[in-house]
Amino acid sequence: MHIVALRAFRDNYLWLVHDGRRALVVDPGAAAPVVAACESQGLQLAGILVTHHHRDHTDGIVPLLDRQRVPVWGPADEPIPGRTHAVRDGDRIQPPGMDVMFEVMHVPGHTLGHVAYAGADALFCGDTLFSAGCGRLFEGSPAQMLGSLERLAALPAHTKVHCAHEYTLSNLQFARRVEPENADMASYTTWCEQRRADDAPTLPGTIGQELLVNPFLRVHTDAVRQSLAMRAGRLPVDRVEAFAWLRGWKDQC
Ligand SMILES: [Zn+2]
Repeated sequence: MHIVALRAFRDNYLWLVHDGRRALVVDPGAAAPVVAACESQGLQLAGILVTHHHRDHTDGIVPLLDRQRVPVWGPADEPIPGRTHAVRDGDRIQPPGMDVMFEVMHVPGHTLGHVAYAGADALFCGDTLFSAGCGRLFEGSPAQMLGSLERLAALPAHTKVHCAHEYTLSNLQFARRVEPENADMASYTTWCEQRRADDAPTLPGTIGQELLVNPFLRVHTDAVRQSLAMRAGRLPVDRVEAFAWLRGWKDQC
């Protein structure tokens, strides 16, 4: 299975999953890049996966369906235009005619119904987990988002993380304020700067890499706890408080 990043808007990635013949697209906020990629590579669109209801993830669905009826999988508890299959935690998705299966994970926090799709050693996590960062809490609580991130962090270390935005370098700027001594963050920053200079995506990374460089997956570590304590005047009482403080700090940056 091949996975290709299609760019849209300022910094969105729509992910195209294909076998050389049939293709799925994840979070089509726009239709044009999907149509262009399918036409230029001779692919037939076989389905659409949606992680959450925000328009930069959904506005391309109806225009794509106007061209061709395909199944649309999306979270059961959110309004998703054109959805044909409402999915819930633990559901398994087998797109017709393709040799791939995805498991649905409910990951509330950014939105309450947000889902992620895991399969073929890949994770499509929408706006929940970003490289070196995480989504804003528009609808959910810190405890919900932390629970969601901890589930994603427990996936096999080699799982490739396909986030929906190219936010890596700005996330790393914040991450390095939190953990100035973190050598993995420093070397990852150098690598990401080179990728962006070459106009290439920094994504996908891996879960194993994120555990080293993503402060929101590291709220249990002494380094992050001490950094938070320097600001607050005391240590956070638990991981949820640490996560809430860290997210609040990032929101002010
Ligand atoms: Zn969003």
